[in-house]
Amino acid sequence: MAFPNWNAEHEVFREMVRRFALEEIRPNADKWRAEGYFPDEMFRKAGDLGLLGIRFDPKWGGSGLDYWYTVILVEELVRGRDLGCVVGLLVQCEMATSVIHAHGSDALRSEWLVPAIRGERIAALGVTEPSGGSDVGSLQTTATVDGDDYVIRGKKIFISNGARADFITLAVRTGGPGPGGVSLVICPTDAEGFEVSKRLKKIDLESSDTAELFFDDVRIPRSNLIGAEGAGFRYIMRAFQGERLVLAAMMNALCRDVMDETLGYMAERKVFGKPISSMQVWRHRMADLLTELDALALLTYRAADQLSDGVPEGEVSVSMAKLQGAELARRLVLDCGHALGGYGFMEESYVARCTRGVQNWGIGAGTSEVMREIIAKRLLPSGSA
Ligand SMILES: Cc1cc2nc3c(=O)[nH]c(=O)nc-3n(C[C@H](O)[C@H](O)[C@H](O)COP(=O)(O)OP(=O)(O)OC[C@H]3O[C@@H](n4cnc5c(N)ncnc54)[C@H](O)[C@@H]3O)c2cc1C
Repeated sequence: MAFPNWNAEHEVFREMVRRFALEEIRPNADKWRAEGYFPDEMFRKAGDLGLLGIRFDPKWGGSGLDYWYTVILVEELVRGRDLGCVVGLLVQCEMATSVIHAHGSDALRSEWLVPAIRGERIAALGVTEPSGGSDVGSLQTTATVDGDDYVIRGKKIFISNGARADFITLAVRTGGPGPGGVSLVICPTDAEGFEVSKRLKKIDLESSDTAELFFDDVRIPRSNLIGAEGAGFRYIMRAFQGERLVLAAMMNALCRDVMDETLGYMAERKVFGKPISSMQVWRHRMADLLTELDALALLTYRAADQLSDGVPEGEVSVSMAKLQGAELARRLVLDCGHALGGYGFMEESYVARCTRGVQNWGIGAGTSEVMREIIAKRLLPSGSA
């Protein structure tokens, strides 16, 4: 495929990640799902292979690579077929640490980023609150200055890795109302007053831990501030580009896997003496979905290429890719489940299991409505909304 930043070296990396996914994740997926947890040692194993800092500066233990490697990392991890584990690992390397890499002091990078890249310390990103997630600029958790410390008070919800994290990259209010009052700090989870108030039960991604967190006058040093006070909203919005690319790539890989499995079944399974794949109604439905799936792949790869080059259109491209990924996954996975007949309702079927949480993929890192807002704001004439 002709993308300027693509090169053959990416494929060598793909092979390595594929082996990791097929050897370390896939054989354990059923067990971890049943237990509702994947072991912490997975972070260490991924760190040992250099998977937790691929775009980060080698000075901090990263590999200094481009966004194509991120896409390949995600595509191959999804082959492990335990998306709970995949989300846990990706939150660590793409969501909770990228702002420390981009804006943290060298002291914070040494203390928190370096061990996170090695998989020795587990990270979570705490933005969403019980009062809302889409409107980040209205968050309510406060960090009040007291001498050389901040004192944090508030609640976070739906936080991936939240119950097992060693530290939270935490969005707090240090100033007045609105986006300009938001800052990012690092909150160690052994600080007094920090509590995992609940591990939340989910209908999918069973092996990832998703927690509600409580901060009751948690005291952290002011030096744990990431970058400048009041710049947190801007940092979060910038970091969202990488997170959204990750989700688009995840949907691309998930849909491709589900589609391949379904097409195999449709070719084998006979109804009224003929394979399902010979029925025109199914041929047309699958032709439509395959066309949309190629569109998703192209949107995702265009976004990866533009983010690698830092072109300004990257934000629109990545929003389009994420929107297409979330919306297509919902239709494609449900249609594929339907093609499997009764098997599409059975726990043992991967396709069936994927139908369970499929509506959720439009929620994380900005909902589909938020993606449409971004696209419309950039591409529609102003004043039209
Ligand atoms: C499995 C999982 C893992 C998660 N992990 C994390 C994590 O690690 N860290 C973290 O901070 N958060 C995490 N989240 C939270 C996630 O980011 C939020 O759920 C998301 O941002 C939406 O926020 P909300 O749930 O409060 O919905 P709300 O913001 O209350 O939105 C509710 C509905 O209103 C719609 N809406 C919002 N704005 C508009 C608009 N302008 N126009 C039209 N409709 C609109 C939304 O699209 C949505 O359909 C996770 C969520 C899940 C489900």
